Amino acid sequence: MRGLLTCTRCDRLRRCMDELPPKKGYDRADYWNRPVPGFGDPRARVFLVGLAPGAHGANRTGRPFTGDGAGDFMYPLLHQAGFANQDEATHRDDGLALHDLYISNAVKCLPPQNKPTADEFACCRPYLAEELTSLPCLKVVILLGQGAFVSFLKHLVEEGVVDRASRYPFAHGAVYRPEGAPVLVASYHTSRYNVQTGRITSDMFLQLLSRVRELVAGENG
Ligand code: SF4
Repeated sequence: MRGLLTCTRCDRLRRCMDELPPKKGYDRADYWNRPVPGFGDPRARVFLVGLAPGAHGANRTGRPFTGDGAGDFMYPLLHQAGFANQDEATHRDDGLALHDLYISNAVKCLPPQNKPTADEFACCRPYLAEELTSLPCLKVVILLGQGAFVSFLKHLVEEGVVDRASRYPFAHGAVYRPEGAPVLVASYHTSRYNVQTGRITSDMFLQLLSRVRELVAGENG
């Protein structure tokens, strides 16, 4: 994506990365501390969109959901469901390959308290739009958490595909088929907090992935 890695449009996020103390045992030089691009299968029919890089996960390693609790939960399940060749993601050169899946975030830079502002979502949406157009086989988009879900709907509003984002309420497992867009599947985020509190479980996420498989097959039928 042209210009992404050097993008500094969001001052607050730039400062957040500059001021983040490294976690114990790491040095600032170990951190990516830049916008984190998506990655995966360029022929993917499924696009999974998270919120933003984790402070000591993607913001450290430079790859979405890599090196933190959200990824530790998610990648074994993606592997089990056949979307990943291995069950862990520890660093950018760990051999992980995605099958029929592309993964990115709605906001590409680390936000304070994991809370991007509406302006920051909007500022980063052109990069999300670019990722979407780079996936010619896309059928289904999984949106992790309300922030990614709403930002994606706002993208569809900006594109004139839907008239109002509020027509599509967020609920875990909700499936929407706006005309002229991929099928949308909403999911609770796989954050460590949501996993620890039981808001999302392995069974719930596996069921969701199984539903996504059915939707992809249906879209081909
Ligand atoms: S969040 Fe997106 S728009 Fe904002 S600085 Fe990072 S890459 Fe640029």
